[in-house]
Amino acid sequence: MEPIKYYSTNLKADEVTFSEALLKGIAPDKGLYMPKEIPTFTRVEIKSFSQKEYYEIAFEVIRKFLVGQINDDELLDLVKDAYNYDVPLEKGFENKYVMRLDQGPTASFKDFAARMMGRLMNYYIKKENRKLLILTATSGDTGSAIANAFYGLDNIKVLVLFPDGEVTDRQRKQMTTLGKNIQIISLKGKFDDCQALVKESFADSDLDYLGLSSANSINIGRLIPQIVYYFYSFSRLRMGNENDDVIFSVPSGNFGDMMGGVFAKHMGLPIKKFIISVNENDEFTSFLNTGNYSKIEPSKNCLSSAMNVGHPSNLARLVALYGGVMNEKGEISKSPDMDKMRKDIYSSSISDQVTKDMIKEAYDEHSLLLEPHGSVGWKGLMDYCKEFNIDQDQLCISLETAHPAKFPAQIVEILKFDPELPVSLEGLENKTEYFDNLDNNYSDFKNYLINNYK
Ligand SMILES: *Cc1c(COP(=O)(O)O)cnc(C)c1O
Repeated sequence: MEPIKYYSTNLKADEVTFSEALLKGIAPDKGLYMPKEIPTFTRVEIKSFSQKEYYEIAFEVIRKFLVGQINDDELLDLVKDAYNYDVPLEKGFENKYVMRLDQGPTASFKDFAARMMGRLMNYYIKKENRKLLILTATSGDTGSAIANAFYGLDNIKVLVLFPDGEVTDRQRKQMTTLGKNIQIISLKGKFDDCQALVKESFADSDLDYLGLSSANSINIGRLIPQIVYYFYSFSRLRMGNENDDVIFSVPSGNFGDMMGGVFAKHMGLPIKKFIISVNENDEFTSFLNTGNYSKIEPSKNCLSSAMNVGHPSNLARLVALYGGVMNEKGEISKSPDMDKMRKDIYSSSISDQVTKDMIKEAYDEHSLLLEPHGSVGWKGLMDYCKEFNIDQDQLCISLETAHPAKFPAQIVEILKFDPELPVSLEGLENKTEYFDNLDNNYSDFKNYLINNYK
């Protein structure tokens, strides 16, 4: 079979293979890479997943996008190594479940993508005998997931920027205590500022010699692994009838997670509806309702801090899948099919107060321990089921994207107990931190890059 080609959502760059898209991160025209065709599974293949382990489903999904780009034995080794932890599915009530994506080494769902992307990048650059500097902006969890996923690799260095004061102590320590090939900057600004500096440096030809690459959710190599858990959860929870389908609720910020689900749907997974649950940054909810898009600048600070995004970086991909064109600034030159989008997607914006109330309600009524992101997802699902009178037998799965122990202050305030720490997060308190402070301005950042990476 011919390898799948990847095009840029801005439509002004050459098509590339998977490995090129992976190593470039962002296209030269600042667009995002998308597969020209989305491979599909038959119903029979999807049914067979119920007999497979998580890493085997990952193998089946990922190899479809990498035809001719890696051989099966090597890919199988990579997925086995990346997915060596549990993916619990916990019942809330009726046929409504929470999928806990928090059992990886940094206790957030970002481990799923980062671990696979790190292994794939390492595979390709070793083959080509190249070196890379990964630049990544984080609002909390990406940074630690990327730093952990790449820690200790020979040919890859990682530089993470986080917004000063906007990540929790624990999130910061997960990045700053590593050392070796991992360097961290605390920026006097917001997450969007971090992301803007990263984007500007990619577009700066003076820095070409550094071999810059991105590991943010804009990298197609992060998106593809996020398709897998949609197939996995369905394979474990479906009742076995031909007409089974599922509703997913996805707590969303930059829309990488939900794009994985949208791809899964296009690949043949019978997804009846996606609920895109957001915090008070409701630019997408309004867009879906009105067809008019306007970014929220600056983004609002909400409890679910990893979702404080005023312009989701993956939105251009969603627009592309529905036949539209949106550039990196959020300007739409061709409108997507909004009716089709509304048929597939519902969106709910959840305030901080309601997020807190739902943490309490889910715990008191269903013994579900949720942190703020998962609470936004669960509440979005509750809203949808109520508004559309969803049958109680309907399979619904809400994603929990981080471990409650990553947000101890909120949990203690609301539930009056301290959630137990997963093994992966123990012992951080006593480790030494290394990071640099920078002002929010591009020329300082550029000098930093030039001086630190010769
Ligand atoms: C990153 C993150 C999200 C948002 O995911 P996107 O792919 O950016 O939409 C939600 N919850 C947590 C805990 C996260 O770290």
